[in-house]
Amino acid sequence: MKKILVANRGEIALRIMKSAREMGIATVAVYSEADRNAPHVQYADEAVCLGPPPSNQSYLRGDKIIASAQQLGVDGIHPGYGFLSENGDFANAVEEAGISFIGPSAKSMRIMGDKLSAKEAAKAFDIPLVPGTEGALEDPQEAMEVCRKIGFPVLVKASAGGGGKGMRIVEKEENLEEEIHSAISEAESAFGNGAVFIEKYVASPRHIEVQVLCDKHGHQVHLYERDCSVQRRHQKVVEEAPSAVLSPQLRAQMGQKAVDVARSCDYVGAGTVEFIMDADHNFYFMEMNTRLQVEHPVTEMVTGIDLVKEQIKVARGEKLGFAQKDIPLQGHAIEVRVYAENARENFMPDIGKLRVYRRPHGTGVRVDDGFEEGMDMPIHYDPMIAKLVTFGQDRDEARQRMIRAARDYQIVGVTTTLDFGVYVMEHPAFISGDFNTHFVQNHFDPASLTPASREYEEEAALLTAYLLEEREGETRAAPQTASTTPSRWKTRRTR
Ligand code: ADP
Ligand code: ADP
Ligand code: MG
Repeated sequence: MKKILVANRGEIALRIMKSAREMGIATVAVYSEADRNAPHVQYADEAVCLGPPPSNQSYLRGDKIIASAQQLGVDGIHPGYGFLSENGDFANAVEEAGISFIGPSAKSMRIMGDKLSAKEAAKAFDIPLVPGTEGALEDPQEAMEVCRKIGFPVLVKASAGGGGKGMRIVEKEENLEEEIHSAISEAESAFGNGAVFIEKYVASPRHIEVQVLCDKHGHQVHLYERDCSVQRRHQKVVEEAPSAVLSPQLRAQMGQKAVDVARSCDYVGAGTVEFIMDADHNFYFMEMNTRLQVEHPVTEMVTGIDLVKEQIKVARGEKLGFAQKDIPLQGHAIEVRVYAENARENFMPDIGKLRVYRRPHGTGVRVDDGFEEGMDMPIHYDPMIAKLVTFGQDRDEARQRMIRAARDYQIVGVTTTLDFGVYVMEHPAFISGDFNTHFVQNHFDPASLTPASREYEEEAALLTAYLLEEREGETRAAPQTASTTPSRWKTRRTR
């Protein structure tokens, strides 16, 4: 493989190109008109504009991406996450064009892309499943019987759902039928597939997922787990590796089950098997994500293995270079997803310009991002600004380092989840390891958020000065602040 096209944008496009470059592979970026000056475009050796900003006219145009790849003599396409990464038709079309798709086969994607067929495949390999209905719901009576047996609350889930969407908690029997109907029509409009099913709603659940890696020669290994239990809207915000609650025995057991799930769909490449774990440490298979995961860096930090390089090697047909027993697990890593969101206001998305953008540095700190100072948050795509990852000899060092790095991170102009990250790191429940996916609901008090940046006090003083200035300006003829040299607070907002 001499030239790779990255069919994605932002931090993940950059992250993939960096590994390619280290392997001596040339890179091609694709971009929408909104991303013309984006870092991933500048970093690549070549770049192709796909079209207008909306994804369906740019990053989802598989046909254009493949045509450009052919024109430029590309021999591999990496899809990143989101966009076309889990689209079996795209993977097939890439291969048919004579280009390697850096990911699993279309067949594996189809099996695992649908939560019901994923469960069916896993069942044949004796993987523990969350109690619930087996196929898509057809008969309300049958659904009711299953729910009575497993007990309320239950979760109605869209088989084609993803990104935390397409799930409804049903607390009481009398709401079940109505909720199922709503879930079906919602799934139809959101995913073009109305298949829904019921799962027991696991109480006090932890989200624990296992990274797997498989070559084309029948070797499969796992790279241990990531604990992604700190979530909002069923979406992850803080992840860590290893989990604070797994014993070595349980780690080995879950790892083996994850490898079995991979085998159940003849998986090739890097993938993630997600489990939900109850308070008694019973774990159940939820789904498999057939791509590189957002939070893969924490695994890289504790194993020392570059997952993107491994994906490329597997796609080139190489055998895995290590056996299960040779995979190190050292230290501890934590990731905070830095979203343009306001945790004070129920994690409402924020937009704006990154007026000030200064990354933290130092030992054990990794920032994966795709922005530079002065850039606007695009409205068309995911609101994630960056992933802040810290590594430490142990969990406490990684945690303390995260607090330090989050405070060193200076982002002005857009409200971010950095302050929430610090809140989590300092919370006794997180420190003790005794928390679950209801962390936000059970422990988060927006009123006690303190801004992440150490500069805050200085900012607050500036804000006061600015407001005074502004008030004075109102009583005078012309406002004082010139647009070319704005007062620092003209462009600032509190976090
Ligand atoms: P991960 O599963 O890698 O931890 P997310 O669940 O946040 O991360 O999903 C990764 C990306 O894929 C995000 O950009 C998310 O919006 C997108 N995504 C995943 N599944 C879907 C889906 N079914 N529909 C739309 N977007 C999705
Ligand atoms: P998605 O495809 O959107 O990622 P998942 O099945 O992975 O869907 O579930 C997303 C999140 O929803 C999980 O991380 C967990 O927090 C919650 N969840 C899913 N299934 C259950 C369940 N049966 N009981 C409790 N929580 C669940
Ligand atoms: Mg999931």
